[in-house]
Amino acid sequence: MKILFIGDGQLGQMLGASAISHGHECLLFSTRTNTVKPLSAQIDLSITLAEAIAWADTVSWEHEDIPADILAAAHDKFLMDPARIKSLTDRRAEKKLFDDCRVPTSPWQTYRTADELKKILDNAEQPLVLKAARGGYDGKGQWRFSMADSPQELAQQAGQAPGIAEHMIPFEREVSLVGARSKDGSICCYPLITNVHDRGILSYSLGAIDPVDPALQQQAEECFRRLTDALHYVGVLAIEFFVVGTDNEATLLVNEIAPRVHNSGHWTMTGANTSQFDLHIRALTGMPLPLLRLEPTVMINVIGAEQIPAGLWHHADTDCHWYNKEPRPGRKVGHVNIRTANRDTALTWVAQWAEKLQVLA
Ligand code: ATP
Ligand code: MG
Repeated sequence: MKILFIGDGQLGQMLGASAISHGHECLLFSTRTNTVKPLSAQIDLSITLAEAIAWADTVSWEHEDIPADILAAAHDKFLMDPARIKSLTDRRAEKKLFDDCRVPTSPWQTYRTADELKKILDNAEQPLVLKAARGGYDGKGQWRFSMADSPQELAQQAGQAPGIAEHMIPFEREVSLVGARSKDGSICCYPLITNVHDRGILSYSLGAIDPVDPALQQQAEECFRRLTDALHYVGVLAIEFFVVGTDNEATLLVNEIAPRVHNSGHWTMTGANTSQFDLHIRALTGMPLPLLRLEPTVMINVIGAEQIPAGLWHHADTDCHWYNKEPRPGRKVGHVNIRTANRDTALTWVAQWAEKLQVLA
């Protein structure tokens, strides 16, 4: 098949590499430079977007903010309604989808102006997280409100653009479910991944390391089923959850979804017989979804660092991935997957390397 991916960042590159290894052809469309690129080099091809769309059998994406002209021009090349997917870039539509699908999420309300936000803050009975409706990522476009804060001041700051105010959740930990849905409705999910964030950015993920809690896994897959069925989704999608309560009382609240491959699924490049990128290509091209075989793996993000130290490149238990991006504090420029026997060794790797690999803003 011929696949055009919208986006030429690291996710587009890794999707493209997987497409090629399955015998497909691919092109990437950069939404930053509005040019078509090959996978193999950072050069622009002298073909137009319209020509690339005409060439492609199907169009997929690395990020859901699909430009409006592509939505229109490639409409019959998508395997699902891309406008519905794009609508999820607005947190209000995303939260409404959760409510419509009856998946549990933190209670929320919307505001359009600073005045509306101030009323919400004046009446708040508990701490809140304010999130701009559009444009947030890696913790950007978010504000915390605790009872000691001044509603007036924060409303002026956060109320410059419409957003949502949701209850601050005192979670035990954060986990994500990465999985794929095929056109025929079958699904295939990795076990819940434990994610640890630092200043709003994913620092590291534990894949196939924590014992699977069957009740939580079942709850997560039920959420996945409901959301992907509602979207008639084809491909990989990730759900971020908060775990609230402990032991038998533990339950999940959906934080947000990413209708695409996801950073917390990068460990599968080392720790699974089928990576999340391969899984996406299989779903997209109508191949059966596999039975997964997994090995415990910790993924540490490389954030803002100039390079990955030689000691990590040259270790038998590590797979280093460098994205060829200009390092800036807070910017993801690579990741390191480490095969690990158990949680303790994983956390020893994290203790030894995370600080050296991460320059946060
Ligand atoms: P991403 O880069 O994953 O898209 P994001 O910036 O879009 O992240 P969220 O995932 O909504 O935004 O929030 C970032 C982090 O902030 C969460 O992983 C979590 O640690 C914290 N957070 C967000 N919402 C809440 C909440 N309601 N209660 C407590 N913590 C929260
Ligand atoms: Mg998030």
